[in-house]
Amino acid sequence: MPWRKEWIDPDTLGVEREEVLSKRAYEVWVSEIMLQQTRVSTVIPYFKTWISKWPTVQDLAAANPDEVLSVWKGLGYYSRATRLHTGAQQMIAKNPKTPIPNDAEALQQFPGIGLYTAGAISSIAFGEAEPVLDGNVARVLSRQLGLYVDAKDKKSTDFMWMAADGLVRHVSGHPEKGKSEIPGLWNQALMELGSTICTPRPKCDECPIQRSCKAYLEGNALLKKEKVGATVPDIEEACQLCEQLDTEDLMVGPEEDAEEAEEEVAYVGKVAKKRKANDTKATNKISQYFTSRTPRTTSKMETVEENNRNIELPDTKKRKAPQSNVGTKYIATYCSLFPKKMPKKKVAEEECLLASLWQFPQTTIPASSSTLERKTAAKKFVSTLDGGDVDLSKLEHIGELDSLLHVFTHLKLTMHVHMFSNSTDTSATTADAAARGRKWVATAAMDSETLSTGMRRCWTLAQTQAL
Ligand code: SF4
Repeated sequence: MPWRKEWIDPDTLGVEREEVLSKRAYEVWVSEIMLQQTRVSTVIPYFKTWISKWPTVQDLAAANPDEVLSVWKGLGYYSRATRLHTGAQQMIAKNPKTPIPNDAEALQQFPGIGLYTAGAISSIAFGEAEPVLDGNVARVLSRQLGLYVDAKDKKSTDFMWMAADGLVRHVSGHPEKGKSEIPGLWNQALMELGSTICTPRPKCDECPIQRSCKAYLEGNALLKKEKVGATVPDIEEACQLCEQLDTEDLMVGPEEDAEEAEEEVAYVGKVAKKRKANDTKATNKISQYFTSRTPRTTSKMETVEENNRNIELPDTKKRKAPQSNVGTKYIATYCSLFPKKMPKKKVAEEECLLASLWQFPQTTIPASSSTLERKTAAKKFVSTLDGGDVDLSKLEHIGELDSLLHVFTHLKLTMHVHMFSNSTDTSATTADAAARGRKWVATAAMDSETLSTGMRRCWTLAQTQAL
């Protein structure tokens, strides 16, 4: 990944110090913004083009907004590009010599930089002991800490930020040791683990931090039908964050062998039922399984060879390690329950065209309109576009080409694409159109226009079906 570089110790730099650190911070910033909701492989060529075009924050601040959007073209979520650009301009206006602050709090004053991005820039570029928490890190932490919680819930998020903060400070010897490469390496390691090993279906048998993983230990304990924790903790001492784990939550991924899957589900269900029956109300929380006896507090911890790896078991006598693939998958299945899966929010449905970047004239219509209603609405809408630049008598409704579904994270959009033919001479009306934020574009020039992905699909449809 071109944005991954060795940490630059500011003490080794001379007069070029501010320039070098600012450039490094800028690269981390650009990469983190591009990586939001986007795959690494997609981002790499965009990152290279962006950095070669605007190698410093000063260059980006001076860039033309249309050019910024055009370089971003195809990466989606275009507001990210605009916020990067505006952020660069604000940084330069505020402090031309040291535009990018190293402090995570100061970084958050700028557009598009939230807690996560601020933590990434501050730790990776400047070596500050600042935490990061994105979806990948939250997944790793919820499993490592045995937190059966909705990772998006505010209380849980606050707790995980606190944990991430405590961890990064601890490993980097904050505040005694000052700035170093450790915070950045630590944060990147957590992110990397979450994106490669501790994925939604974790590869626990490849995990380098399996020994400290509470979810893994609990899965392992349940597999061995052992009940960890002889004493029931006081209800006051019980975890206030974790929720009860229902047996319905236990499932096996579709790629599993059907027979093995059945075996696993039956086994997990059996263990979970037994556990439910044995437990009192106060022990219904997963975290309580390890409340009274955890690997850290058990003095007679023993290590056994299990699945060719050393695993510390919270028990005093050696056990026969499960060798079967089913056992490994069972534990991974159990771990995959963390954090608690919440039902997806219903995506809002709207029938309109998207308002962003350059787009075709668009309006919103009621959901489930009939073809006739849409045709009437389209003609009526086009009639409102008149203002001197379109002669309505020269417009002809060719027809509805098709309906395209476009799904965003927060919105499901059905776009009904209508084609009109226009024989108006537009040469005299271009300035008037521009004053209204509109423009006429020649067919041959459409490829170089910055359109959203949805608009581009509409244009492709128009090209294939009507031109
Ligand atoms: S042992 Fe499994 S669940 Fe735990 S951190 Fe590693 S991959 Fe994730």
